[in-house]
Parts: sequence; structure tokens; C-alpha cells
Amino acid sequence: MRFDLITIFPEFFAGPLDHGILRRAREGSLVEVHVQDLREFTKDRHRTVDDRPFGGGEGMVLKPEPLFESVESLLGYGVGDAQQPKVPEAKTGVILMSAAGKLFDQETARRYSQLERMIFICGRYEGVDERVAEHLATEEISIGDFVLSGGELPAVLIVDAVTRLLPGALGNEASSQNESFSSNWPAAAANPPIRGGLRSLAGTQDKVAPRRTNVPGDFNPSKYELGGGRHLLLDFPHYTRPAEYRGWCVPEILIGGNHKEVANWRRAAALEKTYRNRPDLLTRE
Ligand code: SAH
Repeated sequence: MRFDLITIFPEFFAGPLDHGILRRAREGSLVEVHVQDLREFTKDRHRTVDDRPFGGGEGMVLKPEPLFESVESLLGYGVGDAQQPKVPEAKTGVILMSAAGKLFDQETARRYSQLERMIFICGRYEGVDERVAEHLATEEISIGDFVLSGGELPAVLIVDAVTRLLPGALGNEASSQNESFSSNWPAAAANPPIRGGLRSLAGTQDKVAPRRTNVPGDFNPSKYELGGGRHLLLDFPHYTRPAEYRGWCVPEILIGGNHKEVANWRRAAALEKTYRNRPDLLTRE
């Protein structure tokens, strides 16, 4: 996978791509990252990338010419020789980062992980000339319902989410299988009821007072039958040593070493946590 990041702040990417999984993926040539300074595609002495908005109003807008030409150049089309850029090949995505774009999620990350190349256009100021969204980008993508000051952080975020899905990136292949937002959970068929019900799963077993949960007493997990891929679940809670910390004990089942019981507990605890933090995921059709 090759990532191209088009930006007016090329130095921005010095740190965030140099750690952990991303660093390993780059060193192992699983991914190649190219940072493209947008100003290289300006023609005036001041290397101008922005201009005032037609129709008036505050702020500046990124001009279309440098953006079109940088994408054309990256795709090997020759700078400025195409009125309309050719449609990028099917395995290439040209992604415009935009608060007004479609929402990014894990399913989108999985789809992107099938591509061979992703070109990110990072906006700044009030945003980007709309013709970039209309005629250059294959997709206009937002990372959430909030406004940031630039598209660089959102682009890094997507590079991260996509890279860790590439085969070989995580070391342990299984580990991206039933993470949060996956629907690959094993079917609930052979699932015995959890002792004390789902409510008992909220947090560690507390010697003092159990943590609160908003799971109602009559909550029926079988209503949310999993395995059919209908619902997304959050990850199950993870614990490590010490087994007791400040009086909070790790759930006994996890220490017992019975793999089946552990798997059942994790599925139920993931369900409880999803209900508690993201009930919208359970009701989503
Ligand atoms: N006027 C715009 C915001 C511009 S913010 C609006 O109200 O929608 C400047 C740049 O930051 C945008 O062009 C975009 O590239 C980036 N950006 C801001 N918020 C973003 C978000 N939630 N997702 C993706 N990119 C975002």
C-alpha cells in the first residue's frame, strides 16, 4: 500500500508515522508513505495556495490548481496537461479530508485496506475549492462530527486505521478479527447464561461497591444474537496483572483458565460494554 499525503505542512508528519505498528509497516515495506508539499505546485513567487472566497465571507480557501496538479503529477499524468484528470484506477483512492464528508468508520477502513494506493488531500483554512470534491477526489471523508483546523490529523488517523488491517501489520493475524466494531464474533449458540447476569460484568469485581451499569435487570442478550454480522460490538474488557489492585479484583473466570468460559465471558462482557457505552451499535440494522 502506498499513501500520499498532500499538505501545506509537510513537517507535520515527521512524528506520528514513526512509531509502533506504522513504523514497523514502513520499515518492512508493507506500506510506503510519501508526503507531498502542495506548494511545489504553485507558480507564483509567494507560492500561493489559497485565495479569498467568491461570494464574500471570512477566511481563505485552498485553490484548485495546485491540488489538481499535485494529484495529476502523483498519478503520473503530467502536470497541467489534463483538463479533467483521468479517473484514477480502481485500486487508487483520492480522499479529500473534510468535516462535511461522509463519516469514516471501521468498515470504510476495511474497504480501504483492499486498495493499493491512497492519496489524501489535507485541507486548511475554511476548506477546499468545491471542484476538488466534485472532479478530483473519489471520496470526501470526515473523521467525526467536529471541526479541526486541518486535514493532516484526520489523514494520519486513516493511515493508521488502514495500515493495521493490512495482512502482516499486527504480527498476530487474529488480533484484528474481533476487535471493536467487528462483526466476526462467534455465534452465541452454545452460550450458557452468565452468573449474576450481564449487569454483574460491569467493571472489575469490586470488594467495596460494584461499579454502576446502565444495563437493565431484564436486559436480554439473546435479543442481540451475534454471529450473523448484524450488529457491531465493542471490544471486550482486557485485564492484566496484578490480579488485585486497590481492592478491585480481575473477574475470576479470566484467571480460571477455562478457555470456553473465558470466551463466553468475553462475548457477554463485550455486549454489556456495548450496551453501556454505545447502545446505538446494537440497534443499528
Ligand atoms: N469550513 C469547514 C471546516 C474547515 S476546517 C466546515 O465548516 O466544514 C479546515 C480543514 O480541516 C478542512 O478542509 C478539512 O481538510 C480538515 N477537517 C476539519 N475537520 C475535519 C473532520 N472532522 N474530518 C476530516 N477533516 C477535517
